[in-house]
Amino acid sequence: MTLNKTLTHWYSVNKRDLPWRRTKNPYFIWLSEIILQQTKIEQGLPYYEAFVTKFPTIFSLAAAKESEVLKLWQGLGYYSRARNLHATAKYVVTALDGIFPDNYKDLIKLKGIGDYTASAIASISFNEVCAVVDGNVYRAFSRYFGIDTPINSTQGQKEFKALAQKLIDKEDPAEFNQAIMEFGARQCKPKNPDCSVCPLQNGCVALLNNTITQLPVKKKSIKPVKKHFNFLVFVSSDRKTILQKREGKGIWQKLYQFPLIESTESLSFNKMASHLNTHELTQATLFTLSLYNEEAIIHKLSHQHLHTKFWIIEVDTLPVNGVLIDKTKDYPVPVLVSNFMETFNF
Ligand code: SF4
Repeated sequence: MTLNKTLTHWYSVNKRDLPWRRTKNPYFIWLSEIILQQTKIEQGLPYYEAFVTKFPTIFSLAAAKESEVLKLWQGLGYYSRARNLHATAKYVVTALDGIFPDNYKDLIKLKGIGDYTASAIASISFNEVCAVVDGNVYRAFSRYFGIDTPINSTQGQKEFKALAQKLIDKEDPAEFNQAIMEFGARQCKPKNPDCSVCPLQNGCVALLNNTITQLPVKKKSIKPVKKHFNFLVFVSSDRKTILQKREGKGIWQKLYQFPLIESTESLSFNKMASHLNTHELTQATLFTLSLYNEEAIIHKLSHQHLHTKFWIIEVDTLPVNGVLIDKTKDYPVPVLVSNFMETFNF
C-alpha cells in the first residue's frame, strides 16, 4: 500500500467524530481552523460550539460588535485571531457578498489566513490539491523520513511543504490532509508514540535509528522577557471600578483591563504608595491602598512572563467615569484579569 493509502485507511478507522468533520461549509471549516491554531482540540471544541451557536452564519459574525467576539474568545489567548476573524467576516460580507473565496490563491489574501489555513479550507471545502503542514504533520514526516531540518526555519517550512505536496492524494486531498494531521495527533504523538501498532513502522527512519525523541528538530526560541504588571483595582463606595480598553498594538489589543502600571522591578508597598501620590488617577483623590497578592502571579505568554500584582484602591468617588462592579463580567478581559475577578470578593 502507498503511504497515502496507508494513512487514509488508518484515518477511516481511527478518526475522531468532530463537528467540523461533518461539514464542508467553508465558514465552519475556517472557524474551526482559526480556533484550533495553537489550541488543543479538547480546549477548542467548546469555543467552536459557542461560536457556531451564537454566529451560525458569516453574516451574523460580521454584524456582531467586536467586543462580543472578543468576549466569546476570552480564555483562548492569541486574541489577534479573534480580531482578524471578525475583520475578515466583515470583509467577506461587504466586499464578497458573503461568499467565501473557493481557492487557495484568493483565500490567502484574507486577513488572518496564512498558508496552513488557506490550504485547509481549499482542500477540505473545495477539494483543491493543497497540502497542509501543521505541527502534527511536521512531527510525523520528520520522524518517518528522518528529516532533521529545523521545522521553524524557512528552509524547513519549504522542505516539509514540498514533501507534503508531493505525497498528497490528488484524488482526495481533503481526506489525505485530515488523515496526516490526525495521524500526527493520535498515533505519532509528541511523547512515547506506540510504534508497535503504527501502520508505518516498517518504513520509519526514526524508529529504525532510534531517533524518535530527537525529531522533529526546532531552533532554540528566544528567552521570554520578564515584565512587572501592577493593576490598579479601584473600588468606590457606590460599587464602581475603572476598566480601560487597551489600544495600540501588542498583547490584548482592544481587551479591557484595570489601569496598569508597568514597572522595571517588583514594587514594594511604599514604592507603590509614593508612586500613586503623583499618578493621574490618584493624585487628587483620597484613597486607601492595599495589596491583594503579596506574591506576584506569573502569567506566561509565549514571549513574555508577566509578574503581576493587583493593588486595591478604595475611594469614596472615582476620579473618572467607571463601570458598575456587577457589570465587569460583561467586558472582554484577558484571562489573567478574569481569574482575578473570579476570586476577588469585590
Ligand atoms: S513508527 Fe513511531 S515514530 Fe514512526 S511514524 Fe509510526 S508512530 Fe511515528
